[in-house]
Amino acid sequence: MVRVRFAPSPTGFLHVGAARTAIYNWLYARNQQGTFILRIEDTDVERSSGEMVQGIIDGMKWLGLDWDEGPIYQSQRLDHYRDRAKQLLQMGKAYCCYCTPEEIQERKTKTEAAGDYWWYDRRCFKLTEDKKNQFEAEGRAKAIRFIIPEGITRYKDMIRGKIEVENRTIEDFVLLRSDGHPTYHLSVVADDIDLGITHVIRGADHISNTPKQILLYLALEASVPRFAHQSLILGPDKKKLSKRHGVTSVLQFQEDGFLSLALLNYLAQMSWSPGEEKIYPVEEMIEKFYLDKRSGGNPVFDMTKLEWLNGQLISQTTAETLLLLVRDDFKRAGLWRNEFDSEKKEWLLLLIDLLKERSRKITDFAVRAAPFLSDDYPFEKEAIEKHLQDEKLIDLLPKFAADLDAIDSFKAEEIERILRDRAESEGVKAGLLIHASRVLVLGTKVSPGIF
Ligand code: GLU
Repeated sequence: MVRVRFAPSPTGFLHVGAARTAIYNWLYARNQQGTFILRIEDTDVERSSGEMVQGIIDGMKWLGLDWDEGPIYQSQRLDHYRDRAKQLLQMGKAYCCYCTPEEIQERKTKTEAAGDYWWYDRRCFKLTEDKKNQFEAEGRAKAIRFIIPEGITRYKDMIRGKIEVENRTIEDFVLLRSDGHPTYHLSVVADDIDLGITHVIRGADHISNTPKQILLYLALEASVPRFAHQSLILGPDKKKLSKRHGVTSVLQFQEDGFLSLALLNYLAQMSWSPGEEKIYPVEEMIEKFYLDKRSGGNPVFDMTKLEWLNGQLISQTTAETLLLLVRDDFKRAGLWRNEFDSEKKEWLLLLIDLLKERSRKITDFAVRAAPFLSDDYPFEKEAIEKHLQDEKLIDLLPKFAADLDAIDSFKAEEIERILRDRAESEGVKAGLLIHASRVLVLGTKVSPGIF
């Protein structure tokens, strides 16, 4: 039975990289009819906050990523990690380290000055009983370090294939700090064992942690889960995606007018292809999902593509549903009228249908609907410069306005006919009148068909 977990550290809101990890775990769990667990890795009390935890939870809910167990908070399980460290000590697989940070720094400086690479020199592993007793009598603070066994650690990453590391390149890392706080490796492995995690799906930034963690599983005589490390998302400049690229938390996308299904599809399809690049309903994504061995390359975050997918989804969404999503924006923009809940609702739905073909974000609707609902809407400078400069318009526009006044049936075909007639009788191109009318009526260069 597949059991996977998403284990964010709440030191920031749910950003797109972490969200993609959550999505992969969730899709895998749902595809395999397994269990998806949410674990909050909040042992770093200073950097974690309740607000961030809430942000992560809200982001997951918005994306529709429901979990079956949790949230489990690591900060509530500290005793448990201490017990695991003691267990390793009793098994002879760990030792107490009495080195002070100053002592370590001194030896490190010396080693590096001699041009050597420093890692913990095992001084406390080799302590005599007398020395140990002396340190204990002095009441020295002690950390617990893990004994890295000799040999080679190998595993087969589900995405990256075979990975192997010589154990002599790994230092005896700390399990429990001298203040009694567990390190990341200890808490993550202890929890993954207790939760019976079968697959660890996470970002490639954890690849170097994996051999250490595998050695811990083995030392604790637990079965080792399978690992799948996804490539990290890059920004357009090919550097690791960060706030600098203007891409922040998942909830910011909601505010910016994206639909959660579009973001879900986009992030999922960054390193996995269900076939054609398009919006898939959630059920179909679940059914088709697999961990793609070929997806080792780093995907680049492409806002234009995301907007395109979002636009696709908007055009497939009914006006009724869109109405629910745009309502608040309309209210904020002062465009909402009470009659939209009653006699004018059908008309508003027609307007939404008209606007949805070219809208890429939910926030586009209020902007683009303004000329239809108010006399107070902006005129694009560029549109005026491009389409309202021809002197012939001074004469032409009032004549066309009079033509419109005289119409019996104010219908698209009729309007088109009289516009084309007027253009022809004045010897100008129809485009001149079409574009000028569009700018006058809507203030923009681009809009639904003007007729
Ligand atoms: N808490 C870690 C992070 O946010 C993830 C740990 C893991 O997946 O093993 O990067």
